[in-house]
Amino acid sequence: MAAIDGIAAAGHAVANQEEQGGIIMHSCARLLAVWLAGSITSPALAADLLIHGGPILTMAGERPHQVAAVVVEGGRIAFAGPLGQAQQLAGPTTPRLDLKGRTLIPGLVDAHSHFMMAVDLARRVNVSGAPVGDVASIAGLVAKLAAAEPGLALGPGEWLVGWGYDVSLLSDQRELTRRDLDARFPDRPVLIMHVSSHGAVLNSAGLAALGITADTPAPTGGLIHREADGRTPNGQIWESALALAGPALKPPGRAERLKSLAAVQALYAKNGYTLANDGFTHIADLDLLQTAAGQGRLMLDIVALPSFVDLKRWLGNPGYAFGTWHNRLKLQGIKIAQDGSPQGRTAYLSEPFLVPGPNGEAGWRAQPIQPFPAFLATARAATSAGLQLFIHANGDAAIDDVIKAVETLGLPADHRSIIIHSQVQRPDQLPRYAALDITPSYFTNHAYFWGDVHRRQLGEARAAHISPIRSALALGLHASNHSDFIVTPLDPMFILWTSMTRTTRSGFVLGPDQRLDAWNGLKALTINPAWAYREEGRRGSIEVGKLADFTLLSANPLVTPPAQIREIKVVGTMKEGRFLWEAGR
Ligand SMILES: [Zn+2]
Repeated sequence: MAAIDGIAAAGHAVANQEEQGGIIMHSCARLLAVWLAGSITSPALAADLLIHGGPILTMAGERPHQVAAVVVEGGRIAFAGPLGQAQQLAGPTTPRLDLKGRTLIPGLVDAHSHFMMAVDLARRVNVSGAPVGDVASIAGLVAKLAAAEPGLALGPGEWLVGWGYDVSLLSDQRELTRRDLDARFPDRPVLIMHVSSHGAVLNSAGLAALGITADTPAPTGGLIHREADGRTPNGQIWESALALAGPALKPPGRAERLKSLAAVQALYAKNGYTLANDGFTHIADLDLLQTAAGQGRLMLDIVALPSFVDLKRWLGNPGYAFGTWHNRLKLQGIKIAQDGSPQGRTAYLSEPFLVPGPNGEAGWRAQPIQPFPAFLATARAATSAGLQLFIHANGDAAIDDVIKAVETLGLPADHRSIIIHSQVQRPDQLPRYAALDITPSYFTNHAYFWGDVHRRQLGEARAAHISPIRSALALGLHASNHSDFIVTPLDPMFILWTSMTRTTRSGFVLGPDQRLDAWNGLKALTINPAWAYREEGRRGSIEVGKLADFTLLSANPLVTPPAQIREIKVVGTMKEGRFLWEAGR
């Protein structure tokens, strides 16, 4: 998909602003009572909708489970079962939705993405390679920027920002540096975000505007790459050094952002998500989300994970209450990042990469964002305040830090600490997850996008064991799967396909023993992420009492050959019994 290009095609949003304090059982209980009493045809008690006419995968239980019909009342599922009973229950006047062979599944729950990053893409240039964009060389990247610049009507000195840069897709087979950008952009400051969002490339005007010179030291947990003299910045900055680029990434005004926020919600809805995640929320972003919620602008449920960078601002501040919904917005826990990305060679490993580090270092293992004592202190501050931990850890050494922290902190039962990505983990770490109740959220799209890079950089054994989702599920962990959008596209059937095939760009199957069946692949996109957000009582499966949030698919994944799963389309998205979006309407 063209990640953000379809963003303006807003669906006909339905904003049901009913307060979502807890499970609203009254309507379902009333229907059930009426049904049990046998007086089921009273028109006054008719339900809102009866859905039938296609496979309905409930995603409840360990084995594939289907029902023939669902009855909706008051935005909730009042019945899921045989058609005859549903018809009796709903009565003759209840509107019908005939699926006409389309497959109904629970509304998709976004386990991890960056909703607010998408909000700010409108004025940034897509320099991704295929399939998200079309950049295939450094010259092509510079040309793409140059072509987009006039349309952005930037003022003098205003930043030109690109996103999606991925060296592994460039025919040049080398990293972009300031010099590549300087020839075409000698005066305008330029910043190009790496596809992982963990690094960026600046031109010389950009370095100058940010005051980054040969004398600027890399901050703790950050990297400033240098030229051959070992001093002059080459333009690449990574991890915590990205904080130096704040002025370049300053968001546009509030009115413009609110407009983009509507378009981004429509994009998530078109991809079947009824709950979207903002996986690293800065304070200004949260204020915007709260404003939008307050003004009734949210049509999707949004779970935000405030960033540890602003921890002192969140803790004990009644303006930022965690764990409860307010007009479709919930702050669920604290997001801590403890390393970077494996393809960017910033995943913190216990054994070195097979290739040199970014500055030619031999035996490169990358580094943690915070040394362990500081990381532990951050986790302790959050958990002492009762907050759930969501920790970005890609490399096995960063994962060791999380395991050690959870063990040291002695967290209460059912703490549900989540490791986001959990990609380059060792086989011996999964039993520790099970013992300590740590839950992984995997990123199987990596197998396709960077699987070939991982084989080269990590070696076959580590690459094959990346995102070991089948092993995690076998241990009973509520493992979820995610897009990390804007890092890879939101398309849930693409994510399902990568979890079922683990096929790389070159067609290699990476770790065939970790491939999932469709049922478990779908659970990782529905009920398992619902559990991670403590939402399993309200969503993630089609069961009585849960929200009537549904996603319609063009075909049934349970009977589609794995190789064709990625061709299945999301053809409709319903929130609380009403269409947010439907293909062809
Ligand atoms: Zn992320």
